[in-house]
Amino acid sequence: MIEDARRLPQDSLIEADLAIIGAGAAGITLARELAGTNIAVCLLESGGLDFEQDIQNLYRGENGGRWYFPLDTCRLRYFGGSTNHWGGWCRPLMPIDFEARDWIPHSGWPITRADLDPYYRRAQVLTETGPFRYDATGFWEETLHTKMVPFSCGLITTTFFQYSPPTRFGTRYRKDIEDAPNVRALLHASVTEIETDASGSTVTGLRATTLAGPTFRVRARRYVLATGAIENPRLLLLSNRTNPAGVGNAHDLVGRYFMEHPHIPGVANLVMPWPEAFHAIYTQHLLLADNIVHSAMIPTDALLRRERLQHAVFTIGVMGVYDAKNLAAPAPADEERARDIFELQRDLGAPRATDHPPAGYNDWPPAGALGASCVLGCACEQAPNPDSRVTLAEESDALGLRRARLDWRITETDKLSLNRILHALAEELGALGLGRLHPTLSDDSIWPAEVLGGYHHMGTTRMADSPQHGVVNADCRVHGVDNLYIAGSSVFTTSGASNPTLTIVALALRLADHLREQPS
Ligand SMILES: Cc1cc2nc3c(=O)[nH]c(=O)nc-3n(C[C@H](O)[C@H](O)[C@H](O)COP(=O)(O)OP(=O)(O)OC[C@H]3O[C@@H](n4cnc5c(N)ncnc54)[C@H](O)[C@@H]3O)c2cc1C
Repeated sequence: MIEDARRLPQDSLIEADLAIIGAGAAGITLARELAGTNIAVCLLESGGLDFEQDIQNLYRGENGGRWYFPLDTCRLRYFGGSTNHWGGWCRPLMPIDFEARDWIPHSGWPITRADLDPYYRRAQVLTETGPFRYDATGFWEETLHTKMVPFSCGLITTTFFQYSPPTRFGTRYRKDIEDAPNVRALLHASVTEIETDASGSTVTGLRATTLAGPTFRVRARRYVLATGAIENPRLLLLSNRTNPAGVGNAHDLVGRYFMEHPHIPGVANLVMPWPEAFHAIYTQHLLLADNIVHSAMIPTDALLRRERLQHAVFTIGVMGVYDAKNLAAPAPADEERARDIFELQRDLGAPRATDHPPAGYNDWPPAGALGASCVLGCACEQAPNPDSRVTLAEESDALGLRRARLDWRITETDKLSLNRILHALAEELGALGLGRLHPTLSDDSIWPAEVLGGYHHMGTTRMADSPQHGVVNADCRVHGVDNLYIAGSSVFTTSGASNPTLTIVALALRLADHLREQPS
């Protein structure tokens, strides 16, 4: 059942077994999983079924650190949440991402990739992606009748992204929520405070409101906070009536360890003087199955361990050709030829980009072309950093609540790690004779201008076994609070270099199992 909270009488009390705050990927997955059980669920969503500017304005915030997207443009506040405009790129975290790596401070989840595997499989279905095969080069080579680049130095390997259509969780699963007899979804219901008992160890209720009133309360036996990784800490910090530090914040960890995946669209240019090299790289590019599969390049675990690096993923982007008539010099030896093309590229600025070549790429580059080039993009892992954080701004929103303030930081080790992996990639491609890789990151000053986030907000209520190191435990329950859970990427301990939503959905499915198995 879906209702509009604006029709509730003032000061209503809604009672349920489980209250879920937020109907994005995490909240909808959870409510849908519990549909048809004997758990009475109340799903509270701040927005309506469509975008409304005055509700979206509640997401405005401050950026106090390095440049970041305005906080009201990098997420959406209505039923379905940010899946209303996500890109659909899916990839699970790698097993090594869950490990405590002694070279990455604060790394190490209390769960392993194997714990999540069964849930990843189910998340594939909800995100409408293909088989749970991400690193199986042979499988995809066979399925797609193609060959991946045969990396041979043990430094770089192939991985795959799969694209969700992209699934808009609000539209795709709305009927499931409407039809569920035990789920009561309330739209236009903004939770403004999580109330606890005097000790702060039990949540006693939620205060909620609509923009123009009424205000009302929700009482449940258990609660799940699922409002995204900027809003989850904001709501915990705002709920400071009993404890000035906020709920679940005994160790001053709420809001800390904010992570993004720094994205650098033109991290390197790959110059390929030979059409065969271009073809080899192109087959590594965009592959089509029933669902779209996109290959990418990542460091091997061996390289990460040996050189104590953080993860990164590289994709092949815009392609360009070098026209023979632009080069007057006689054909030099291959090595020189590569250098000449490289210099030409440098002199001419960016290579002449064409559209992605069509499926019949054998006709491309066109006759007479001297070579081809492509631009590599990357997304990389940040080491968890307590100073990279979400706090409360001084300014308040239309509900009288202090807005979020983000201070996103990137550290020197984040940068050095990426540089090293780029050189490893150059080594692998060079060994195969596929061309010359020219990283654009040789100068540190490139970073501030070109690094964007990927709209991936992570880490602000991190998972750890002990309350000294994390906000939630391995079950996603807030340390020190017996009936409050958190869903979403705020619980990520580390970020890997994989887009977060598949993992968010997998974790929500796992939390649903936990709540079902342990009725309070
Ligand atoms: C442009 C863009 C492209 C992206 N592309 C990708 C991609 O390709 N791959 C990928 O993996 N990820 C991508 N993402 C990220 C992805 O959208 C998020 O990871 C995912 O939607 C997060 O799910 P969530 O349920 O945790 O939070 P959200 O989807 O943000 O949902 C939170 C919900 O909580 C509600 N809410 C907030 N505050 C309150 C309150 N006080 N009371 C009640 N309700 C509240 C909101 O209205 C919202 O519906 C992209 C994001 C953007 C913005």
